[in-house]
Parts: sequence; C-alpha cells; structure tokens
Amino acid sequence: MLAEIIAVGSELLTPYRQDTNSLYLTAGLNELGVTVAFKTIVGDQREHLASSVEIALTRADIVLLSGGLGPTEDDLTRECVAQALHLPLERDQLLLDELQQRFSARNLQMTENNRRQADHIHGSTILPNRNGSAPGQWLEVTFNGRRRLVALLPGPPAELQPIFDSECKPRLAAALPPNHLARRQLRMTLIPESHVDARSAPIYKRFSDVQTTILAGNAEIQLHFSCVKPTLAEAEARVEAVADAVSREMGDDVFSWSGESLEEVVLLMLGVRHHTLAVAESCTGGLIGQRLTSIPNSSRVFLGGAIAYSNRSKTALADVPSYLIDEHGTVSEAVARALAEGIRRRIGSSLALSVTGIAGPGTPGGRDAQKPVGLVYLALTDGKETQVKELNIHGSRERIRLWAAQHALEMLRRRLL
Ligand code: ATP
Ligand code: MG
Repeated sequence: MLAEIIAVGSELLTPYRQDTNSLYLTAGLNELGVTVAFKTIVGDQREHLASSVEIALTRADIVLLSGGLGPTEDDLTRECVAQALHLPLERDQLLLDELQQRFSARNLQMTENNRRQADHIHGSTILPNRNGSAPGQWLEVTFNGRRRLVALLPGPPAELQPIFDSECKPRLAAALPPNHLARRQLRMTLIPESHVDARSAPIYKRFSDVQTTILAGNAEIQLHFSCVKPTLAEAEARVEAVADAVSREMGDDVFSWSGESLEEVVLLMLGVRHHTLAVAESCTGGLIGQRLTSIPNSSRVFLGGAIAYSNRSKTALADVPSYLIDEHGTVSEAVARALAEGIRRRIGSSLALSVTGIAGPGTPGGRDAQKPVGLVYLALTDGKETQVKELNIHGSRERIRLWAAQHALEMLRRRLL
C-alpha cells in the first residue's frame, strides 16, 4: 500500500511556513506499515490543487490532504477532491446547525462563506473536529477501477493530529492487512558519511526487507533501519539482525544503539567507571558544559568548570602560567595541557577536558597571529597522564565551535571505552 500526502496552502510555498503536518502523518502511516511514496505541497489555486489530487489518486492507494478546509474563498480542498472524484458536494444540515451554534455561543454573526464548512463530498464520513470549526472527511471510493482511501484534514496541527489519531488511524488499520513496524538506529560521529555508507551498505543491502536511511548533520551520522512485518516480533528480529551486523563492522565507531546522544553516552560511561569530570572551555564558550548539563542528573559525574575565554581567565580560573601563553600562544598544545591539568586540580575531578582554538573569522594577535582559523587543541587528563589532540576544522565560526565540542566529547568517549 502506497500513500501520498498533499499539503495545501500557499503559505507553505513561501520561505516563512513549513509543512510539518506531513511529518506527523508519515509517522502514523509508517506505524501502520504504509510507505509514503509521494508528498505534494500545493498552493491555494483551483487548477493546481485539482490536478494534484488527480495525480495522487492515480498513483497512491491512500491520499491524505491537509489544509484548505476553512471558510475563506481560497479554501478549495473540498471542491477539488469532489471534482476529481466526480462526486457532488452536499450541504449537511446537522453540520450547519452545529456551526450556527458555535457562532451563537461566541456571539458572532455567521457569514455566508462559513456555511461552506458544512459541505461534504457525497458518500463521505464526517470526522468531527473538537478543536476547530472545519470537520475532516473520510472517503472509501473507487477511482479508475482502483480502491482508494482518502482523508481531508484541517491544516492547523492542533486540529489535524487528534482527528488523524482518533478517526483515520483506526479506519486505516481496519482496511489494511495487519502490519507492525520496528525501528533501530545506530549513531556515529566525526566519520565522513561516504565512509559509513561504503562500509555498511554491503551489509544492509543483504536485508532487502529492511529499509535503511542515512542521516548526516552536525558532525553526526545516523543509520536508521525500519522493517514492517505481520507481527512485531518478526519486525524487531529483522532490524535487530541488521543493526547487529552493521555495528559489528563499524565497531567502536558506533556510540549509540538506541538513539542516545553523545553527551548521554559519555555521562553514562563516566558513571559506570566511577569518574567525575571538569571542563575548561575557551573557543567553545560553554558548549560542552551546556550539552552535558542538558541531561538530567548529570551533576553526579559532571562537576563543572570554567569558560576560560581570555588569557587572564585561563590564569585566574585554571592556573595556566602566563609565561606558557607568552611562549607558545593561547592556542597551543602547552596551554591546552595546562588548562586541563589546572581545572582538574581546582575542581577536584578525576578527569578534565580542555579546549582552546581559533574559531575566527580573523586570527588573534601575539603568538597566535600566524596560526590558521580552525586550529584547535583538546586536552584530556586524569592527573597522571595528559592526552593532547590537534585539530584543523574547516568552515564558519559556528561550525568550528560545534565540531570542537563534538571532538572533545568523542575524545572522552574513546578514552572511556
Ligand atoms: P482553518 O479552518 O483554520 O482555516 P484550514 O483547513 O483551512 O483550517 P489552513 O487555512 O490551510 O487550514 O491552515 C491553517 C493554519 O494551519 C495555517 O496558519 C498554517 O500555518 C497551519 N498549517 C496549514 N497546513 C500546514 C502544514 N502542512 N503543516 C503545518 N502547519 C500547517
Ligand atoms: Mg489555507
């Protein structure tokens, strides 16, 4: 069974509004084992909407429409679907009375165009809308000899979601063979997407009944596996099998097997190994601390630290000797090392992490004047041994800061393996 979602509304074709309803509907359809094969976004033009509906009815078994059910002239979904199906629109007296009551209750005059919200396509089931005035509609029809399930849903997400959940999903489930969806995801970081795919594709391609998607962004690669089977146990066994096979190949590169973030994983590992952590952040300005403290209860292992942004604060907050800064520059292996060691002593943690780098644009003065933007040093210490890492990160200030924080957390994770 294939589905198409049509999001109706000229505002969705501007830079200011995004179609999110289709994401919600897709999640619900996937749970029922239905694949969304097409999505259309179309403006409030009669011709464009009518042809989109026709095309959808030709190529998809299930067609869900969102928006364009309101009272105004540009709300054309009812008319266009009726036209495509060659069915008449009928005014429902019961709906009309209800609308009238809504208006009276609010002491408002019901204008003529509001009456259009009581129009429904011949043979449709009205889907009541408890959060707005435009009800949805459900149709089971034949189009060019093929069976089609069609739903018309209001555009506002707060109206669409409850109607879809309580009215459409049960009807879809009843019309479909029993299906269950299982999902798994593996997360990796700081490896190129192409490398992940080159290593994992030969494995996941053997599982032809599992759908695999690679998502990359913000220094992270996610491999999503999903599978639909008549029973949940069968579906779970399949995604389990592919995730296991791929993670055997990727080894320690995989940091998460069930959706946890890198900071969650790091905190978990610190806890299990009875470590505590402090950080001294220069160019990341607290990004690492922000991520660690976004996880509840992180204070058990993350003790705190300093945003040692200026040279003065590096000395004042982490005891970095000023001669080191004069001799090597702020962005140097020596300063990174001293920052980590200093903050560990000050806070009294078992481990400490530091970052110093040039996020740009433009290079700082002094000893760092000849160093390139994107040069970052990380240090990780346990008080006995200090590991230092040099990075050259490309891109904008934002990207350099984000990747530096990601590298620091990943350095810590690898150390804790
Ligand atoms: P109404 O009765 O409110 O007029 P409607 O069915 O005509 O409902 P629209 O006028 O198309 O719906 O949209 C109403 C609001 O819902 C808009 O402000 C829009 O931002 C939001 N909306 C519409 N479609 C979507 C969508 N696909 N994703 C997210 N929001 C949407
Ligand atoms: Mg609209």
